[in-house]
Amino acid sequence: MGNLSVRDAQARVLEHVTLRDIESVKLAHALGRVLAEAVRANRDQPPCDVSAMDGFALRSADLAEAPAVLTVIEDIKAGDRPVNTVHAGECARIMTGAPVPAGADAVIRVEDTRALADGRVEISKAVKAGNDIRPLGEGMRNGQVVLTAGTEITPGVIGVLATVKAARVSVHRRPRVAILSTGNELEGLDEPFDPDKIPNSNSYALMAQVQALGIEPVLLGIARDDPRELADFLRRGLDPADFDVLLVSGGSSVGVHDHVRPTLEALGVSMHFWRVEMRPGHPVAFGTTTHGLVFGLPGNPVSSMVCFEQFVLPALRRMMGHARLFRRTLTARLAHPVRIRPGRTEFIRVVLERDAAGACLASSTGNQSSGALLSMALADGLLVVPAASSGLAAGEPAVVQLLDGTEFQNEPGFEESL
Ligand code: AMP
Ligand code: MG
Repeated sequence: MGNLSVRDAQARVLEHVTLRDIESVKLAHALGRVLAEAVRANRDQPPCDVSAMDGFALRSADLAEAPAVLTVIEDIKAGDRPVNTVHAGECARIMTGAPVPAGADAVIRVEDTRALADGRVEISKAVKAGNDIRPLGEGMRNGQVVLTAGTEITPGVIGVLATVKAARVSVHRRPRVAILSTGNELEGLDEPFDPDKIPNSNSYALMAQVQALGIEPVLLGIARDDPRELADFLRRGLDPADFDVLLVSGGSSVGVHDHVRPTLEALGVSMHFWRVEMRPGHPVAFGTTTHGLVFGLPGNPVSSMVCFEQFVLPALRRMMGHARLFRRTLTARLAHPVRIRPGRTEFIRVVLERDAAGACLASSTGNQSSGALLSMALADGLLVVPAASSGLAAGEPAVVQLLDGTEFQNEPGFEESL
């Protein structure tokens, strides 16, 4: 296996990802899921021409010589059916959303009118036919496809689904994700404090990264660096009855106590790569079984999170049916120069600000060591330095992958070379 770039590794992962099955969920539980089928309107909306304003429905021809004085023949509220036809010299008081009566071809808002003592109304200005009328079917036509398969269910989409009376919706099943941490040095969150140990943060950071995608993962715990114990844990995580995706943190490097890769292979996992030309995150592995995916994420806390962002996130989103797989990127100017060793795509943790001209300015969150989790925790985004580059000057434009938003896009938004 030659040197694998981030983009090629992402493509290799996505080649092995298939959509989950379709399930039906109640509308109240559909937020954040992805439509598995197109949805059609089951009615015209609005069902007839309705008023867009509180005002008077009238004949626009009557206003040719405004101001005009008209006789009010009816009072029409939303939900009413008008009884009378509006003839020359007449109008009907009408509320927003109420049906426009026969004979009327325009609405004038109440602010442009004045009630007279004799009950008639004076209209102060002329309007064209169609003024302030929402025509039948303006929002949607009966039978029209209003939402296509692959649409993410946002609050607005929930509103549309309720409009077409979709009490249940067909969505893709969420992948079931297991998380395993490995390492003799690790101390569990519930274990007593031991100054010689390293707290297991990866299980929880990964848990939260998965939760942020609307998936509730299962934490399998900590496996010691012992091939037999590791195999027992991995078998649980690879069980097709329970999980679609297994995330293993640590032990995927080439040290003599890094047993993850050989143990996965012994359990029948086909490994597709185990190194990617990136920093942080070089020792990242990906394999598949007949039914599921396994990611071997580096133990270093920042590397683990960055590799999740590049490889696991797009895979989970595709499994759920999303069309937009990747974090949104923007172009920012560097607040300071960045020097790096060329050869690997570098992800630098940055905060973003706006300069006086409104342009985005990126500055490093500080210590960029792959163990310095705070630099990741406080970052707005990952600034991507292409593999061929040895650095960027202050003021140079650079691509930043946003970490804090809920915005996603179709393509990764960066290339390996400048
Ligand atoms: P490894 O990939 O197993 O060689 O681990 C690389 C570094 O990451 C070591 O310093 C580990 O102590 C640290 N590390 C591994 N797993 C975790 C974890 N679950 N939480 C925090 N740090 C970890
Ligand atoms: Mg280890």
